[in-house]
Amino acid sequence: MNATPVIAIHGGAGTIVRHAMNAEAEARYHAALTDILSAAQRVLADGGSALDAVTEAVRLLEDCPLFNAGHGAVFTAAGTHELDASVMDGATLEAGAISCVTRVKNPVLAARRVLDVSDHVMFTGPGAEAFAAAQGLEFVDPSYFYTEARHQQWLNARGTSGTMLDHDAMTKFAFSNDPRDPIDPIDPDRKFGTVGAVALDANGHLAAATSTGGITNKQAGRVGDAPLIGAGCYANDATCAVSTTGTGEMFIRMLAAYDVSAQMEYRGASLEDASNDVVMMKLPRIEGRGGLVAVDAKGNVVLPFNTEGMYRGFARVGEAPVTAIYR
Ligand code: ASP
Repeated sequence: MNATPVIAIHGGAGTIVRHAMNAEAEARYHAALTDILSAAQRVLADGGSALDAVTEAVRLLEDCPLFNAGHGAVFTAAGTHELDASVMDGATLEAGAISCVTRVKNPVLAARRVLDVSDHVMFTGPGAEAFAAAQGLEFVDPSYFYTEARHQQWLNARGTSGTMLDHDAMTKFAFSNDPRDPIDPIDPDRKFGTVGAVALDANGHLAAATSTGGITNKQAGRVGDAPLIGAGCYANDATCAVSTTGTGEMFIRMLAAYDVSAQMEYRGASLEDASNDVVMMKLPRIEGRGGLVAVDAKGNVVLPFNTEGMYRGFARVGEAPVTAIYR
């Protein structure tokens, strides 16, 4: 008998701003995570595929301004938004990804269309937008991605040395009293805001999806791990499904998502051992900061991170969603 279907999501990791830990800010994040988990859980409960559940979860995370993906994405050094996303089906090993899009409202839907209809795995820049347009996906004016919080975060980053991870770069903004601005209990100067989801469905299939605005003040054209299959996203029914968040360059060099799967396949590691090895041992060796969510075919779920906090949660069909921010 197959394990109970389950969805797990993340919305970025980073350092906790102790004095910004207020109940209202935390409640906003818990509520957003719970709503999104509930929606994806319904997809699975209705017999939907893991692929559909992760696509829906990430679409909702993109639409939520609290997270650095879609609406609420971070700014590049040029003051623009460049979005990346990927999705992978563990049943077929089919994958789709797009990078550096500027007007596609939901990058994960474009990645999903690549998986569904294209012979290719990845499109970038204008080619990715042309593909998305031909697929009839919704386009928005680039101003749609603007949020005042991310703008301030970018201004902060420009005043310092270079790039900043999303939640890291929002520190000063964490204390805003303006209700239109997201309050971020994780130190925005030390946080990563990519979103992602992994799921196991009733047929025993796994899937993963990841979406991001990247890192604040990144150079135009920079691509992180999120849209790279094997780095920020991986799924294989034989092992696990993984979605990552963190310092993308290190996750690329470590092939972080695939390494979890490879350790299970090649050395028979459990999901927990493989994930902990990647997040707690291998990534820190090259100063890789962040975390991941992963699920295996038995329904085991892990959500490890080597930062102080990570927005995260999981929901098994028939059970209440569980969400967390700090350790
Ligand atoms: N991993 C993402 C990137 O490097 C950033 C993040 O997780 O927030 O683009």
